[in-house]
Amino acid sequence: MEKLKKQLVKAGYKMTAPRIAVLEELSVSRHPISVRNLHKKIKAVNRASVYRTLNLLEESHLVNVEVIGKEKLYCLANVPHHHIICKQCGYMEEIKCNHNFGYFKNFSNIHHQLTLTGVCNKCAK
Ligand SMILES: [Zn+2]
Ligand SMILES: [Zn+2]
Ligand SMILES: [Zn+2]
Repeated sequence: MEKLKKQLVKAGYKMTAPRIAVLEELSVSRHPISVRNLHKKIKAVNRASVYRTLNLLEESHLVNVEVIGKEKLYCLANVPHHHIICKQCGYMEEIKCNHNFGYFKNFSNIHHQLTLTGVCNKCAK
């Protein structure tokens, strides 16, 4: 959390109350969370601020954005990772990202999104 705040300050942003609230909630949430659910947990922050904050965190690469189904989900990107989701029950696990795109000589600031799906052992029984 402290490290995240420092990163944000380093990127030139002030630590405002909504930003702290969003970061804190993301750091306790174990799974990627939608704007709607995030806002439910931090009602003191209005929805527009939640949106703005998430966009800003996305720009500074502090959050992962994944589109799962029709929803945009956010989680902290302090450790590069992806998710694998059970198609039947929605059970989710994180997997470490081992991708390295350094070989793209004609690109910088490369983003990638990957969501794996499968059937968990529980559902497969
Ligand atoms: Zn995640
Ligand atoms: Zn399952
Ligand atoms: Zn990756």
